[in-house]
Amino acid sequence: MKNFQCPYCGVGCGLYIDERGKIKGDFEHPANRGDICKKPIYLTKVLDKGRVGKPLYRESKDEEFREVTWEEAYAILRERLSSLKPEETYFYLSGQLLTEDIYVANKFVKGFLKTNNIDANSRLCMATAVAAYKLAFGSDGPPCTYEDIDDADAFLFIGSNAAIAHPVLFKRVLKRRRETEQMVVITVDPVETETAKKSDLFIQINPGTDTVFLNSVLYVLHEEGWIDFSFVEGYTEGFEEALQQAKNFPPDVAESICGVKAEDVYLVAKLFAQSRKLISFWCQGLNQSVNGTMKNLALINLHLATGRLNERGCPFSLTGQPNAMGGREVGYLSNGLPGYRDVRNEEDREFMEKFWGVEGIKPEPGPTITEAIDLALEGRLKFLWVVCTNPAISLPNSDKVRRALREVFLVVQDSYFNDTSQLANLVLPAAQLGEKEGVMTGSDRTITFCEKFSEPYGESKPDWLIFTELAKVMGAEHLFPYSSPSQVFEEFREATRGRLCDISDLSYDRLPAKWGSRWLYGGLRFPTESGRARFHPAFFDVAREEGEFILITGRLKNQWHTMTRTGKSPELLKGEIPPFVLMNPADAGELGLEEGDEVVLTSRGREVLRVVRFGNVKRGSLFTPFGYPLEFGEPTNLLTTDRADPYSKEPDLKYAGVRVKVLARRPR
Ligand code: SF4
Repeated sequence: MKNFQCPYCGVGCGLYIDERGKIKGDFEHPANRGDICKKPIYLTKVLDKGRVGKPLYRESKDEEFREVTWEEAYAILRERLSSLKPEETYFYLSGQLLTEDIYVANKFVKGFLKTNNIDANSRLCMATAVAAYKLAFGSDGPPCTYEDIDDADAFLFIGSNAAIAHPVLFKRVLKRRRETEQMVVITVDPVETETAKKSDLFIQINPGTDTVFLNSVLYVLHEEGWIDFSFVEGYTEGFEEALQQAKNFPPDVAESICGVKAEDVYLVAKLFAQSRKLISFWCQGLNQSVNGTMKNLALINLHLATGRLNERGCPFSLTGQPNAMGGREVGYLSNGLPGYRDVRNEEDREFMEKFWGVEGIKPEPGPTITEAIDLALEGRLKFLWVVCTNPAISLPNSDKVRRALREVFLVVQDSYFNDTSQLANLVLPAAQLGEKEGVMTGSDRTITFCEKFSEPYGESKPDWLIFTELAKVMGAEHLFPYSSPSQVFEEFREATRGRLCDISDLSYDRLPAKWGSRWLYGGLRFPTESGRARFHPAFFDVAREEGEFILITGRLKNQWHTMTRTGKSPELLKGEIPPFVLMNPADAGELGLEEGDEVVLTSRGREVLRVVRFGNVKRGSLFTPFGYPLEFGEPTNLLTTDRADPYSKEPDLKYAGVRVKVLARRPR
């Protein structure tokens, strides 16, 4: 029996593989206590499908790939990296890597190459929550843990379809509801999702307008005398400024902008005021927006205004990926350094320079991935190394992305040959989960040791080892002396000593374990300058989009990201293809459409074919999943824009204006 963390969503369930190769939930693991959802059950059936077994290379993208040895691959990389300025190179990592992989890659780029030209696909996922947590609390650690679900009596899901995106967590909420009579679950979303269907109240909101709705809730809290002033005065600052902004949005204004009922605004305010313990969960529905940080802050404001922290509640951001939290600990975004440090902070840079034995860590954050795409098209980036992610499908404005990927010398380090690999010059086969050891951290800060249960496919290598071996070839063996992942882990944990995410006393044999206490801010002291949590005025902004519908994108029930693994399981694909668009039947009726008809969604001259399904989507909005790879036709992200939140630089992936053209009607 070998234990590991589920490689899919950020709940971070502990799983094990038994002697017969069956994957089951680990009853000892605090994140799931034996529970499991459908996705990982088929993991062993798909692990080896579509793998790359040897390094592949082609000088020009017009040529066919040829197999090369690892030595040849490292020589190619050394030559390329040595011939370019660091700022002409870029690295794009993933929240699906193990922490050891991320740590070594980050050190290679920021410490050895001395560039901050590195980002991760968390930029598309929780960068906004990170920005908002830091602004409000001074740190981006989630303030509570899953245990807090078990004694809460009110849950607000806003911009989160946890029933399919974080199913084991949602089942824990439903279990709590079965146990407790006075329990309320409210969902706020433009789509009547699986989560909404299982809630006590579904508030259907116009896409992009959450900041208005949440400000309006603060307005009502104040009007009704429901502000907890002893908490506000004792532990926070900035309330008056936040309230002044909220006063622009009385419920009748929220009604007209958000398309909700004023009484629903009142109900949410009442829940914040009168429940015993309230947890709000959110995910990409708030994060992937040009107004994302403000949406997050508007929600956190409600928790601060009513003292909903620790034993009384929690604003709980759900991470999309299994090790996005590990990436945060290691600091893999373009501004980060290990131990929740930041390149902009002189003390942090000096510490890491001494710790790594290097000089000259750059003080400016590098460009984000969407900015890097622009730089590639301008010819200012010449080399892009993608590790364990599929930007040809997952980044917004995907025809622009694919053009940029064609322009650069592209290295794709992945276990699978995906749509990004098709555009590569060099493909490096990486070991998959189960073929290597290391740790991952789930949404509630629980770290799990992932054991090895099979040999790497072909000549695949663990990602940390690929960077370590290349560093040796480039003469930096002294900086990368690792021969095992445990050596990497031991170095990383030392970098966290004395920090908020201190794991210096942990070792592989002491996992799973959490960093920080159950309540990160248990004493209501916050790592801000004043020691107080901070309200922020939440300003409303929404993009002006052309088109008769606003397109919202999101996940499929049983698929993961761009379907590289889950898409190879017939069991998991059932009901999820052909690619569909969810329409309100009334909107469809006006276009003379029935379920099963084929339509083309168009935006800015791009076209994506989808089959119509009916669903309770807010009138004037459409929903389509984002993850379909090219084998199913043009990707959804052909239609989305790379406009981004100004604070987090997270793209506005859930708000694109589209038109609908009827392509073929199903025989009536
Ligand atoms: S809920 Fe998430 S982490 Fe848990 S088994 Fe399902 S996909 Fe894996």
